[in-house]
Amino acid sequence: MTPDPDCPECGGTGMVESDPNPPHPPRFSRCVCVLRKEVLANVNRAYPGLVDAPVVRESPLAGKHTNNLWVTGGNAFLAHLRHVAVRQPATWFLRVTSDAELVTSWLSSIALKGGEILDGDAYMVSTQFITIPDLVVPPDLLVIRMGVKVARNEASSEVLAEALNERLHLNRPTWVWDTPDHPLNSGHLFWSKEVQRSLRSFEEIKLDSTIVPRTVGSAKKSTVTKRRQQDALGGSRKSLRGSSK
Ligand SMILES: [Zn+2]
Repeated sequence: MTPDPDCPECGGTGMVESDPNPPHPPRFSRCVCVLRKEVLANVNRAYPGLVDAPVVRESPLAGKHTNNLWVTGGNAFLAHLRHVAVRQPATWFLRVTSDAELVTSWLSSIALKGGEILDGDAYMVSTQFITIPDLVVPPDLLVIRMGVKVARNEASSEVLAEALNERLHLNRPTWVWDTPDHPLNSGHLFWSKEVQRSLRSFEEIKLDSTIVPRTVGSAKKSTVTKRRQQDALGGSRKSLRGSSK
């Protein structure tokens, strides 16, 4: 990461002297201007465009990055996720996946075994994530966005339950994100008794949609941000919820 050339802390060198202790030789550490860029790059790696989400002063999700949450909220969720993510170290591994991606990874494992794929989203099957564990196990925090998959698949709820149970088994935190207009309940493609059971220990949080996040910049910027976020969701995927209503 390149340091900020006008940084008052390091003067553009990217290094600051830490704990001067003469006569020992000076020790240097990376300047906050570099660390900040590393954190932002890490956040954007997890979810392209997330650093451009609106800035909120506080969030009900703050400090809960090690808890299991079931968050219901519209796009304001991204502002709250940003709030949490930029406060983690650059080594923090966040992954934002979707219900569709879970099913795709499950289908991939079937395809590899030579099985027949009966799913409207079969064209998305890739070997990027071969199994559900490949997709869901590694991250420090896994966010599962619900409502992306539209094409029906009988195994949907089992795939979600397996992903949730895998994380619960490893005692690793998961945030399930659904929306008020398409809540995860008995009318949802991914709902089942098993999913309900898996979610029993999750803290439910409803994000207040009436609180408009404090946006930075002009209205023009927020349009760009919105478009960027849509791109980040998979661009050409037909099954995006927004385009299928
Ligand atoms: Zn600096």
